[in-house]
Amino acid sequence: MKPITRRTFLGAGVGVAITPAAGALVGAVPGAAPGNAHSSGQAAPAVGAGLPDVVVVGAGAFGAWTALTLIERGAKVALLDAYGPGHSRATSCDEVRQIRMSYGDREVYSRSAMNALELWKKREAEFGRKLLHPGGRLVMRRAWNKELEDQKAVFDRLSLPYEVLEPEEMAKRYPQVGFEGVGAGFLDVNAGLLKAREAIMAITEAFERKGGAIRLARAMPGASAGRTLQNVAIDGGGTLAAGAFVFACGPWLRHVFPELLGKVITTARIEIAYIGSPAGDSSYRQGILPNLSEEGTFPGAPASEVSYTQSDIDAGLKIARGGPRMPMDLDRDERIVSAWQINRIHEYVRVRFPRLKEPIVASRVCQSDASPDSHFVLDRHPGHDNVWIAGGGSGHGFKHGPVVGEYMADRVTGRPAVPDLEKFFSLAGRG
Ligand SMILES: Cc1cc2nc3c(=O)[nH]c(=O)nc-3n(C[C@H](O)[C@H](O)[C@H](O)COP(=O)(O)OP(=O)(O)OC[C@H]3O[C@@H](n4cnc5c(N)ncnc54)[C@H](O)[C@@H]3O)c2cc1C
Repeated sequence: MKPITRRTFLGAGVGVAITPAAGALVGAVPGAAPGNAHSSGQAAPAVGAGLPDVVVVGAGAFGAWTALTLIERGAKVALLDAYGPGHSRATSCDEVRQIRMSYGDREVYSRSAMNALELWKKREAEFGRKLLHPGGRLVMRRAWNKELEDQKAVFDRLSLPYEVLEPEEMAKRYPQVGFEGVGAGFLDVNAGLLKAREAIMAITEAFERKGGAIRLARAMPGASAGRTLQNVAIDGGGTLAAGAFVFACGPWLRHVFPELLGKVITTARIEIAYIGSPAGDSSYRQGILPNLSEEGTFPGAPASEVSYTQSDIDAGLKIARGGPRMPMDLDRDERIVSAWQINRIHEYVRVRFPRLKEPIVASRVCQSDASPDSHFVLDRHPGHDNVWIAGGGSGHGFKHGPVVGEYMADRVTGRPAVPDLEKFFSLAGRG
């Protein structure tokens, strides 16, 4: 990544960053400098008036990485979140998220995950915090199929390490797993786990250390002048002006831009449980047991049912069992796992981990943030030249956070998009 100075940033994004913005901050955002207020509503330059060059709304994986990358490139950035970084409603703030290179034939994400893995390693060293836990991912299918063949071809092309495992070999290596219904296995050797909530805290702390401002505030698009958004309106009163705005609101994006994204980003309730490891037993720990992923293999389940496990780092063995989509109120729903799903998770453990008799020791209710084709949505708002959208993580976005941060920072600072990526991430023709 070529670092750019604040001067270069402003030069690159000149049409964006120095656009006059009317009605600057009017006091509702805690920590705001009083000198920023323009009660007259007169136009004031966003840059040079003590205002942020960029306001990033949403401090989940996409927003936090974007904010950190922008500040490292010399921008002045304010990061706003309705509930603050690391809160329990955010899609990014479970205990763990998986990093995997295995994406079937979707090579674009295998490549991105390879880049992200290197960036995570560097950041882990910089943050001085253990965030990355290697251990592999075993993709289990009823039989060797086209998906696995395509995946193998991608791994060969990218020189990624993998193993193709026959049922006897899987049973021998992983005696703690019951492989009923599984006829083929593909081990993604470089896969592992990331400490999710802890990573968000580390990223946002680094952002603050580097001069970024974090504000606890719910913000919606505010006043516009032609194709320029001038400010965000803060819940409870007040506005915050800037030269450019990035809305990285995860599943809430559909509420922030209902007309544009109401049909592009959908949400559903997802219930997860962590089963405790037996005392003194490392069989279910990451490094001994890889993460498991299966589709159509669980005995008695529909062919389309996708379930996965993520091995124990400290919170327990995470079990996510697929099933019917359930509605979710992102702000109001209580995040307590239903008795129905708890029963299904216990059933899953009985079949897949027959020796494991431990209780559920933690649980999470999260929400999907899915785009129709599960590609991310990383694009400029079609109606505003200085507004960017980063979302549509679609159940796999977390690991790509550092890459998304660079992609968004490039776009906001006026660097052209990489065409190979833009065609997947663009809003055009979706929804
Ligand atoms: C069950 C589940 C499992 C997953 N597993 C994996 C995995 O193993 N590996 C992987 O890579 N990915 C995984 N993902 C996907 C990944 O977690 C998400 O793609 C990613 O975390 C999304 O980050 P985000 O920043 O877009 O959204 P979020 O983390 O939801 O962040 C959005 C933020 O915006 C804030 N916000 C919203 N509206 C406003 C507003 N108006 N004003 C101010 N703030 C606002 C919210 O408070 C929130 O903090 C999984 C997702 C789910 C649901």
